[in-house]
Amino acid sequence: MYDPVTHKNIPLSHEKLISSYWSAIQPDYKHQLYAFPRQCDILIIGAGYTGLNAALTLASEYNQSVTVLDAGSIGAGCSSRNAGFVLPGTGRLSFQDYQSKFGVDTARAVQDEFALSVNRVKALCESAPASVQLNEARYLKLAHRKHLSQKLEAQVSQYSDTLLNANWIDPKTLQQQLPGVNNMHGGISFTPAMSLNPKAYVNHLARLCDKANVHMHSQIAMSHYEQRRHDIAVHTNKGIVHAKKLLLCTNGYLPKGASPELRSKHLPVLSSVLVTEPLNPSEVEAIGLSTSDLVMDTRKLKYYYRLLPDNRLLFGGRGAISGKNAAHPKYASHLLKALKHSLPALKGIKAEYHWHGWISVSLDSMPRVFSPTPGVYTAMGYCGAGIAFSNLAGKRLAQLSMDEPLPELPFYQSALPTFPAPAMRRLGQWLYYQYGQLVD
Ligand SMILES: Cc1cc2nc3c(=O)[nH]c(=O)nc-3n(C[C@H](O)[C@H](O)[C@H](O)COP(=O)(O)OP(=O)(O)OC[C@H]3O[C@@H](n4cnc5c(N)ncnc54)[C@H](O)[C@@H]3O)c2cc1C
Repeated sequence: MYDPVTHKNIPLSHEKLISSYWSAIQPDYKHQLYAFPRQCDILIIGAGYTGLNAALTLASEYNQSVTVLDAGSIGAGCSSRNAGFVLPGTGRLSFQDYQSKFGVDTARAVQDEFALSVNRVKALCESAPASVQLNEARYLKLAHRKHLSQKLEAQVSQYSDTLLNANWIDPKTLQQQLPGVNNMHGGISFTPAMSLNPKAYVNHLARLCDKANVHMHSQIAMSHYEQRRHDIAVHTNKGIVHAKKLLLCTNGYLPKGASPELRSKHLPVLSSVLVTEPLNPSEVEAIGLSTSDLVMDTRKLKYYYRLLPDNRLLFGGRGAISGKNAAHPKYASHLLKALKHSLPALKGIKAEYHWHGWISVSLDSMPRVFSPTPGVYTAMGYCGAGIAFSNLAGKRLAQLSMDEPLPELPFYQSALPTFPAPAMRRLGQWLYYQYGQLVD
């Protein structure tokens, strides 16, 4: 499988090598066709949620002529293959972490920005087809160890002056609500949150972009770019595009050779999911989950799951460390084992789909929207929870590229920090996984 840490270039149609459940039920979006662009005002690389939201904002709110290129089809990366949890949060920091680093007012303002990101997805879906399957949901963060229960409960009151609703569910109530969930010690229920079909949603965004006259091109890969006096020359497999501004919306898929400025500023990490065969009615009753429950636990190496509208169970967690090992069957069987441990009523269940994708992890667990070099802008580092936030980050990125001031929040005030000893990132990841397994 394509590996952004080791491959100099991203292969065309890289998404065809994985067979996700979403691709099985949702066709690729057929965008309007345009001749190869020799020059343009704003060039966006990456047609996922970040790139399409930036494009839509620039075309419809700033009247810019915008071109988007993707090495694969529309949404080829995470945006067509994620788990569909639209969460009021991103990165890996808790309210407490933000408060310790930046003070209580900023921590509250950050939560409000997260609530705004969920509401942005909701607003964008007002004209969406039914296939997007947008449903109001609750995000359940469950304590997998007794001692974490108190810690979680103590967090609830911190959200009281924010736009997020956080409610404590004690172990007994949790047992009544989700009788099939094994060995959890209470948890927090967060709203607003939603679930959706990620591929249908990225197709919907692309449809909005087509209507806004954004020129989208698939199967065109950027190899690198050069800054010139009056423009940026972007090299692709089809030739050079001259752009006034370049927005890199490549997230975890940015190949090694494409941007020396960004290469060491994040770690592409594989996230992996499986989808089971449809559950029968007694299995659905036994696990007690509804389609509006989005469950995640407190492990260092987290598991997350949801019941899909067709009564299959989607279950996710970490994947392999390198692309070359991604498809090894041991990762699918590890996830299936963890699923059966979490939901013992499904001990006989079979997985029908298993796939993975590259998320972008930042050194300090916080995403950023920033300009790495004049005329070039990017938003990345969502750490595996970017569905809601990438939609807002795309808009913020567009605003930044138009020299608009952004809200005074930590995501918008600095660049992503550089990893020390970038060549050792994979070793660091391996050590973290060993530590995580031990602690969990
Ligand atoms: C298995 C999995 C499950 C997930 N589940 C959830 C979830 O439930 N909730 C949640 O909030 N988040 C989840 N995520 C993360 C979420 O999907 C991402 O944060 C989000 O989609 C990021 O969108 P994006 O547009 O920034 O990047 P992407 O959607 O990854 O798009 C980047 C695009 O850039 C293109 N590209 C890269 N380099 C080049 C180049 N050189 N030339 C041309 N094109 C290029 C790629 O082809 C790709 O289409 C999950 C991710 C995975 C992999």
